[in-house]
Amino acid sequence: MSNSYPFQKKAKHMSFLLVSGSIFFSLLIFIFVAFAFMPGDLLADTHNNWTSDTALKALKDGNLRFASGNPTHPNSDALTRDNLAAHGQAPMAAILSCSDSRAPVEAIFDLGFGDIFSVRVAGAVPGVDELGSLEYAVAHLGTPLIVVLGHTKCGAVTAAVNGASEEGNLAELLAKLHPVVQLVATVPQEERVFAAIFKSVQIFRDRIPELSPQIQALVRENKVKIISAVYDIDTGKVTFEEP
Ligand SMILES: [Zn+2]
Repeated sequence: MSNSYPFQKKAKHMSFLLVSGSIFFSLLIFIFVAFAFMPGDLLADTHNNWTSDTALKALKDGNLRFASGNPTHPNSDALTRDNLAAHGQAPMAAILSCSDSRAPVEAIFDLGFGDIFSVRVAGAVPGVDELGSLEYAVAHLGTPLIVVLGHTKCGAVTAAVNGASEEGNLAELLAKLHPVVQLVATVPQEERVFAAIFKSVQIFRDRIPELSPQIQALVRENKVKIISAVYDIDTGKVTFEEP
């Protein structure tokens, strides 16, 4: 028996190591699985420190860098991409803007991956799908700021103001700009398109909470702010208008 004692002691030691090792690795696997399957929205809450004011300042600062020709292209590297993929998104702003290729949103605000929840449609008109997208951003991602962003020389607004006769879905899209066209009907012809661009983003800014009870509730609770803005495609500058 005395000969077997050291063996038994070693065996006990080995089994202790095996059990504690198994527990340790089980815990590691549990933590890994828990994070891997945690919904992105839930993770987003853990790193969302944006307020409407800090988000607006970040947009203004970014546009200043871009318009002055000194962009820094932040959050555009592989590390940012990997972090966002692992931990989910918490964008600072949801921006409803025109599809125009001369107004790429991340570029004009000198921002990168994970910064902007971008909703783009010709004329920046808020239809059902666009409103649903904005609702997702504010209600599920905790985005505190909605920006309705128009731009100078907008083809959709120009077509609506000039009464262009389009067919099919495009005609339906342009019809959403008719209330704007009526409001600028008395503006001198040469200034009408410019006026309609500024008027359209103001009207859509005010219409969004009217058309979306979810967004309206968050605005009333001061959890979400909606502003309008116009991007000048000549100068690169964005003019912000807070209601
Ligand atoms: Zn446009």
